[in-house]
Amino acid sequence: MNPNIYPPAMRQLINELSKLPSIGEKSAIRLAYHLITGDTSRAFSLAQAITQASDRTEFCKVCFALTENEICDICSDANRNDGIICVVEKPADIFALERSGGFRGKYHVLHGLWSPLRGVKPEDLKLEQLFERIQALSKSKTEYNGLQELIIATSTTVEGDATALFIANKAKQQFQIRVSRIAQGLPQGGELEYADELTISHAIEGRRIVDDHHKVI
Ligand SMILES: [Zn+2]
Repeated sequence: MNPNIYPPAMRQLINELSKLPSIGEKSAIRLAYHLITGDTSRAFSLAQAITQASDRTEFCKVCFALTENEICDICSDANRNDGIICVVEKPADIFALERSGGFRGKYHVLHGLWSPLRGVKPEDLKLEQLFERIQALSKSKTEYNGLQELIIATSTTVEGDATALFIANKAKQQFQIRVSRIAQGLPQGGELEYADELTISHAIEGRRIVDDHHKVI
């Protein structure tokens, strides 16, 4: 199919839709047809929803999850344990972990994984902010007595493992804190985002401590 046969505005719509993840040209054309030939009000409300979500949603100043406020609901929740931080790759992983219902600590979103092959360096991730958080918690004597545990919940891919070991190495050297890695129960290469609730809650319960040789034991 050649998108150039379409009028300019529709061509632009097809072009924008095809930039979305998992949307190829054929799907983009099908979606564009659906949007412009269906109920006009539906197309307008979709456009409005996209604009609103894009305008209002930002990153939490503490954990870098998505929020409409400066600090997200999880970071502001006094009933959650400040002393346990679970490190994830992307905001969608928080939704996956929250669905499983078993975790009552706080989160930190890296917004990526360390990947030399794709040119992503540790400096490109929200790591400096994570270590600042750990430092602040290590000094504070809150009701939970500072940071008790750092749980690294990156996916069980080569990049996820490399990122986990990088964080574990640095966190243990600088702060002598307990670092653990969730992996148990997740299939090799498995991403949290796509795992079911039971698998995720088993993965959290079965997390392993990263030892002084930076191996998961
Ligand atoms: Zn937050």
